[in-house]
Amino acid sequence: MSPPNAPESDHPIAQAQTGKPDELAAQASEVALLQRRLARERASRKAAEELLTDKSRELFDALTLIRESEHRLQMALWASGEGIWDWSAETGQLNVQGLLLAGKPYDWPEPDLERLLSTVHADDRDAASLAWRLHMAGTREDIDIAYRLRSSRGLRWLRIRGKALERAPNGYALRLAGTIKDITNQRRSEQSLNLMAHAFASTQDALAVVDQTGWIIEINRSMAELTGTEQEVLLGMPLSDYLELPFEAYTETGWRGESQLRGESGQTPVEVAVTIVSELAGQARCFIVSMHDISERQRSANRLARLALVDTLTELPNRIALEKRLEQDIAAEADFALMILDLDGFKGINDTFGHGEGDRLLREVARRFSAALPNATVGRWGGDEFIVLLPGVQDEAKVNQAAQALIDTQTDPFVTESGRQLIISPSIGAVLFPRDGDSYVELFRKADAAMYLAKAKGRNRLQMFEPSIEQNIQRRMKLESQLRIDAERSAFNFFAQPKVDRNERHSGAELLVRWTTLDFGAVSPDEFIPMAEQTDAIELLGRQALHVAARLSKLLEELGRPLPLAVNLSPRQLRNPEFAQIAIEACRSFKVNPASIEFELTESALADGIDVVRPILQSLRAHGFGLALDDFGTGYSSLSHLRKLPFHKVKIDRSFVTDVIESSRARVMVQSIIDLCNGLGLTTVAEGVETRQQFEALREMGVHEFQGYLFSRPVPIEEWVESLSAPDS
Ligand code: C2E
Ligand code: CA
Ligand code: CA
Repeated sequence: MSPPNAPESDHPIAQAQTGKPDELAAQASEVALLQRRLARERASRKAAEELLTDKSRELFDALTLIRESEHRLQMALWASGEGIWDWSAETGQLNVQGLLLAGKPYDWPEPDLERLLSTVHADDRDAASLAWRLHMAGTREDIDIAYRLRSSRGLRWLRIRGKALERAPNGYALRLAGTIKDITNQRRSEQSLNLMAHAFASTQDALAVVDQTGWIIEINRSMAELTGTEQEVLLGMPLSDYLELPFEAYTETGWRGESQLRGESGQTPVEVAVTIVSELAGQARCFIVSMHDISERQRSANRLARLALVDTLTELPNRIALEKRLEQDIAAEADFALMILDLDGFKGINDTFGHGEGDRLLREVARRFSAALPNATVGRWGGDEFIVLLPGVQDEAKVNQAAQALIDTQTDPFVTESGRQLIISPSIGAVLFPRDGDSYVELFRKADAAMYLAKAKGRNRLQMFEPSIEQNIQRRMKLESQLRIDAERSAFNFFAQPKVDRNERHSGAELLVRWTTLDFGAVSPDEFIPMAEQTDAIELLGRQALHVAARLSKLLEELGRPLPLAVNLSPRQLRNPEFAQIAIEACRSFKVNPASIEFELTESALADGIDVVRPILQSLRAHGFGLALDDFGTGYSSLSHLRKLPFHKVKIDRSFVTDVIESSRARVMVQSIIDLCNGLGLTTVAEGVETRQQFEALREMGVHEFQGYLFSRPVPIEEWVESLSAPDS
């Protein structure tokens, strides 16, 4: 055979072999043979060489591939945090590679299965070995077990997964391999998730998770209970069907407030907290709405609020409740009549019978008022003042009827615990809304003014508001401010009203204040003294009176007619514990004897209690001042006042003097007062004597001194002083 690429003429040996023809021929054929063999060998070597290169390239490529895929595998394992393991039945060895335990590479210390199992947490051991053996025996498809490993890095959760690579003919695994991973962190977050879910489900507060558009995507049991609606019904519903929330509740900042949760059985007041969360339940943004049932809290708040609106003594609506009610009615423009009632003389009852009786009486009055007008709102304004609201009333006739019903409730006497019978009457002022005003304050002021007029007109009656009353209020306000100014300036004037003895000779005089204003001219003491008593103007007035008396007394002494001068004292003056000192100072500065001055005080001056006033009165008496009990016989005169307090004189009230001729009853009273005073060694004075008849009757009865228009009206001091020098005075 001739090799394809070897032409014979080109062969180098052929050109060198020349000689004898036979020999040459033989040699030539041998050369040719050799040449052919050589060429063949060359060709086959070349072919072998080529073959070899191809194979080695293939091998190289294969190796590269393997290396790459191994690399990829390692990358995958590294990325998933997994290690790999393999086990062979032949050696019983377990090889683990690449395991990260608690984030760091971990050298597997247990080379065989037996010892591996000894590192497994006792609670997991049985399950782990069972799973392993089932797979070894071919009963289970693969191995997938999670167990706790006791390692030098603490107790860690591991997950082992694997599969048999080779099995013996009996099915038993010969070689196993798989992955191993530290799943402790995953476990922990699973556990905390479970915990959270449990907390979510079982918390007392109702919870709802809503998506961005306000639809419910999750709720808990409390939410279902509170709404009385099945969980399945609630899911996928808009939360707004159940809970009213303001628009701003669904904002980044979250929201807190109160609202009403609507459910099957009505509304439940809830305290709401809305929190925004990102990436929950597969939602980009959603809101957790937590609702705390505050109905119990609200109930007790309501109870408290109700209590705050009820007068504890009478259980009637109190001032706050009445104000609210009035404001509501005014806002609603609903017609009504408003009455203010003040109990006449209640203060005296409180003073005389004590606060316990006073309270009992108020309760009884409240009961009677409420019973008399079942359609009205009766409330207690405070003290002895009541309020009656007549809804829908627009004419005075109806107010009159109601007032009469209220007045009639008091015709039956009230019986004290000691068995005394008391009659107590109301003075009533009334206004109509909207006729008399459009604000609560205005209506109230006007009703109050009307009530005062009712009292002034003789009590136990109704006075409807009239515009002229308002003018009186204005007058009153102007007077009050002027009074303050004039008291500061000691701008009062004093008159003297003489007193005479049984022989009609001057026995002294009472100083009576006079006040003249630019706006209103002369103002009666009966009008402005009570005003002054509301402020400390009365003290300034009292001081001026004292100085006037002291100066006049000095003058009388100088004139040789030393007559006692009476000065009226207000309750408020006696509240000043320094009063005795003030009086003494006044006498001292004018160098007059305190015996030339006597103080007149009414029983109302004793209202603060005898114990408060007594030390002052005793001190005055001890320094020689005279003390007269004024207006005796009016009010709840108590005989004990006469016994316990150091009075030296009693002024029998004008009302007895006026009646003494006509009324035998008045005569009996006057006679017993005189007898009593004589018994106690007290001087008696009759005031307001206007007729000679009265004078004579009283003198007959034994009165010591007399005062009244019969002898003289109050006159300017100079006039009185002049009259003293007249013959026969
Ligand atoms: P009061 O102490 O009972 O004074 C007697 C009042 O009766 C005086 O009224 C006097 O003008 C009046 N009066 C005297 N005689 C008669 C009479 O025959 N018939 C009638 N109808 N009235 C007579 P006035 O001056 O208006 O004083 C009223 C009250 O004002 C006094 O009553 C007294 O409580 C108080 N008051 C007067 N001056 C002072 C004062 O300087 N200080 C204090 N704290 N109160 C005073
Ligand atoms: Ca007097
Ligand atoms: Ca008097």
